[in-house]
Amino acid sequence: MASDEFQIPGTTPSPEQQPAPRPPAPEPVRIPRPPKDRPPRNPQKMAIIIASVISLTLIGGILWWALAAQPPTQDLASVNTSPKTTATKTPAPTAAKAAAIDLTKLPLGDGKRSSTAKQGYVQTCRSSFPANAPGAQTAGPWIDQANKTWDATKKVEVGGDVDWPQAKLSITTSGANRLITSNALPEHLTGIYPVRASDPAYKYDRNPGSIQANDLSFTLPLNPTVQSQSTCIFGEVAILLSGSVLFDAFDAGGRDAVAWELQDKCAGHPNHMYHYHGYTPCVQDKSAAGAHSDLVGYAFDGFGLYGLKGEGGVQLSTKDLDECHGHTHALPWNGSTKSIYHYHLTRDFPYSVGCFRGVRSVSGPVGQAPL
Ligand SMILES: [Zn+2]
Ligand SMILES: [Zn+2]
Repeated sequence: MASDEFQIPGTTPSPEQQPAPRPPAPEPVRIPRPPKDRPPRNPQKMAIIIASVISLTLIGGILWWALAAQPPTQDLASVNTSPKTTATKTPAPTAAKAAAIDLTKLPLGDGKRSSTAKQGYVQTCRSSFPANAPGAQTAGPWIDQANKTWDATKKVEVGGDVDWPQAKLSITTSGANRLITSNALPEHLTGIYPVRASDPAYKYDRNPGSIQANDLSFTLPLNPTVQSQSTCIFGEVAILLSGSVLFDAFDAGGRDAVAWELQDKCAGHPNHMYHYHGYTPCVQDKSAAGAHSDLVGYAFDGFGLYGLKGEGGVQLSTKDLDECHGHTHALPWNGSTKSIYHYHLTRDFPYSVGCFRGVRSVSGPVGQAPL
């Protein structure tokens, strides 16, 4: 079977074709108000309203006086639940869940590791991280360590447009398994590695790694099942449809790799093998506006990994997902619609798989130690 038969068309966009990540619209929802000089439409109605307001004010005053006269042991909470002028309040926006993530103040994930599944954390298999591990040598100005946030819109990218025409990815099925082979090279352009001394990124991360081919072969269950216990992760957690692997959110020192490490326009970089630590704009999500994201890869327990959008096309954040960074609902799976667990990428930490919900089917790190 030709290996390119299963290559996903359109997964090799030039990064220039990708829309630049836009910061979320900071404007709150505004309720249009009628012009002030607009005459009232119904004077009788206005009179009733004015009378009602006066009555309510009087009643409120009496109530306030009555409550104020209560002994000081009165529970203040009960006082505060008295009716207020709620009718004049602007209704709370119902689309709060759809509010875009503030890319300028993303939570910094440094040290957010846990020995058990925990939302917003990585359930890591590592009990400790070395103090002098390789990685970025200095914090870029986009990292605010005091407030534990970072600004994705200000992060420097590793330059370059290197093509990898020899990239190979094959996805087939055999019995109850999905067989994936890849040479680990991405089907999209990458930056120039090792990071050149002339690259602005060099100031922060002198990554000496170069992108090399690695023969990868994974056998994953076609229909994984949710286990009663989650499983810890370390290093590689998924293969994306670009043919390159996705690592967990930590660098070798247990810091937030997406914030600290310098990556190219496709959010990838090498140790010896090209990889991502979170969302990449270069594995194309071709789903329509208002629709759930497309599949972008397979986690190493066999469950699918999808893009940034959940049902109804709503952009997801970590709080919308479970401790392992996934959820369950119906979506196309193995050629039919099925209600199945799956992971999502998000723009906030831990960005992708936080632990495995299924049985880890890839044993041991597929590359070297994470960088
Ligand atoms: Zn989903
Ligand atoms: Zn890395």
